Amino acid sequence: MLSENYKQVRDRIAVAAHNASRNPAAVKLVAVTKNVSIDEVYRAKELGINDFGENRVQDAADKVTRVKEVRWHFIGHLQSNKAKDVLPGYSMIHSLDRLSLARALQRCAEKHDLKARVLIQVNVSEEQSKSGLNPRDLAGFLKELQCFDCIKVCGLMTMAPDVRNVELIRSCFRKLHNLRDQQQQSGYELPELSMGMSNDYPIAVEEGATIVRIGSALFGI
Ligand SMILES: *Cc1c(COP(=O)(O)O)cnc(C)c1O
Repeated sequence: MLSENYKQVRDRIAVAAHNASRNPAAVKLVAVTKNVSIDEVYRAKELGINDFGENRVQDAADKVTRVKEVRWHFIGHLQSNKAKDVLPGYSMIHSLDRLSLARALQRCAEKHDLKARVLIQVNVSEEQSKSGLNPRDLAGFLKELQCFDCIKVCGLMTMAPDVRNVELIRSCFRKLHNLRDQQQQSGYELPELSMGMSNDYPIAVEEGATIVRIGSALFGI
């Protein structure tokens, strides 16, 4: 049941936040609705969930246009030619990882006279299969993004490796947090850390996540 799952997720976020002496209210839950029906999205909204995530433009189009007064987050790999499909519909794009996409987002944002709010996806675990920027390229990328006046970089995003080794997962989240802190010392403002999914969000919250992206733990699929 969605309402019970939601309560359990919130409880676990609260415990993890408490473990790290953090305020649970500083952790935003994004409900990932890929593979979830629009009725289920409405039910989630009725429970008070206001942030939803999707990873495929096409599959999500219907939900994004019909479910209003919520914030949609684009969390999947984004092709540059689809930038026009995420602006202005999505309020945050979690997966900026290359200059060509930044250019496409800049063009669309300019056209709609808005600022595209983005997170830079970093491939902290450096797995071949994952998209995201190499951590070594982050400083240079942030610098290049400064000339894109319609792009607001709000923080960083990562995905931990899909393994059982808790310490490996934790070190991945910790690395993202450290990368953020380093860049903040260089003067960039990067308040958001989008990390943690159904299998690992309590660890992510302990390591400083401000946004967790949760699908199966809520919707049970
Ligand atoms: C699917 C997805 C999630 C949610 O995954 P669950 O394991 O179902 O919680 C989070 N982030 C991204 C980028 C995803 O594609």
